[in-house]
Amino acid sequence: MKARRLRLAVLGSTGSIGMSTLDVAARHPDRFEVAALTAHTQVDAMLAQCERFRPRVAVMASADHAQVLAQKLKEKRLQTQVDQGLRAIEQIASDEAVDVVMAAIVGAAGLAPCLAAARAGKRLLLANKEALVVGGALFMRAVREGGGALLPIDSEHSAIFQSLPEDPAQWAARIDKIILTASGGPFRTRDAATLREVTPHQACAHPNWSMGRKISVDSATMMNKALEVIEAHHLFGVPPDRLQVVIHPQSVIHSMVQYKDGSVLAQLGTPDMRVPIAYGLAWPQRIESGAARLDFGALQHLTFEPADTPAHRVRFPGLALAWHALRASEGTCAVLNAANEVAVQAFLEQRIRFDQIHAVNEATLAAVAPNNPASLGDLLELDARARAKALVKVKHLAPSV
Ligand code: NAD
Ligand code: MG
Repeated sequence: MKARRLRLAVLGSTGSIGMSTLDVAARHPDRFEVAALTAHTQVDAMLAQCERFRPRVAVMASADHAQVLAQKLKEKRLQTQVDQGLRAIEQIASDEAVDVVMAAIVGAAGLAPCLAAARAGKRLLLANKEALVVGGALFMRAVREGGGALLPIDSEHSAIFQSLPEDPAQWAARIDKIILTASGGPFRTRDAATLREVTPHQACAHPNWSMGRKISVDSATMMNKALEVIEAHHLFGVPPDRLQVVIHPQSVIHSMVQYKDGSVLAQLGTPDMRVPIAYGLAWPQRIESGAARLDFGALQHLTFEPADTPAHRVRFPGLALAWHALRASEGTCAVLNAANEVAVQAFLEQRIRFDQIHAVNEATLAAVAPNNPASLGDLLELDARARAKALVKVKHLAPSV
């Protein structure tokens, strides 16, 4: 008997991961039906996706943009229903008529829909790392209680997941260490004293990956790797002292698991997010992703360097904050994430300098005493409090740009 097609909802469908997800899904019309799409403000991109994929529902987080989309769909006589606001995105994430949810919203804004999908027991493909950094314990509990599957989409975490035994009950006894690889981003060899001159355009020009602007800046500061260390801690239940980062500029090895006997398993591939996306969509099967294959004849060398040399500690001061926050408390991770979102936005809008992103993060960590967040409400309150403090610091720094 032919299996029923899986009904896919893509949260953040107009972004980099959202578009790659639709690219993979479109290669397998026999397996996936695009049931729902959500975006923030990009009406034209959403309209084009509705024309191509004919989803049942499209949600715009912004009400004004939802109205414009509804009008344009009507003009084209398309049947897609338009909804608006974060609540509607949560509704999509837990909808009975959806089987698979791709969480590709950027930032803590994606936390509530992720929790809704987890609680509803969906197959949840998690790209939105900030949701896990902010909501770690609550999130993982929701996944367990919801009884669905959580598939990491971040390339490092997909690599780790692919290198681990299928049964999570085996992980703790077998893992010695998790080694996350990092490309080092565009400023790996740059003189730290010149980082103050970096423009948003330079920070977003990643050598190996093409991504949204926020994660591109995070990769340039290596805060992306800090967030990924926290993400790995929650996904795989590994304590902070067993999480290591190594710089690997070619981005061919996507991450590794070192076992108790000294064996290391790694996952390799070209740097193309369609590989982890295809893995998450089809797991435990494998499907065509569209990605180019590695050419071992042409691969001259794979190189590695420690991430914690004195020079890198000056160049990438944010990386160490992951271990600081993990050892401090769950709330500290949420504060760090909020500060970083505010700081990156301020840098992209040229209100602060590149090297001041870290100053905002440190000042916010020092200024906010985190409560012990036990609910989504507690987390959102803490997130808002940390954002307010981070903004004060941004305003204080602003005249120096
Ligand atoms: P992006 O900026 O390209 O896209 C973000 C999407 O989220 C867009 O569709 C946007 O409309 C939507 N969105 C933004 N703010 C929103 C809000 N407040 N409410 C509702 N929707 C909102 O980002 P991206 O590069 O696709 O990254 C998405 C997530 O995936 C991030 O958490 C990022 O860290 C993670 N990720 C991305 C990559 C990558 O290669 N791009 C790799 C690993 C992990
Ligand atoms: Mg990653």
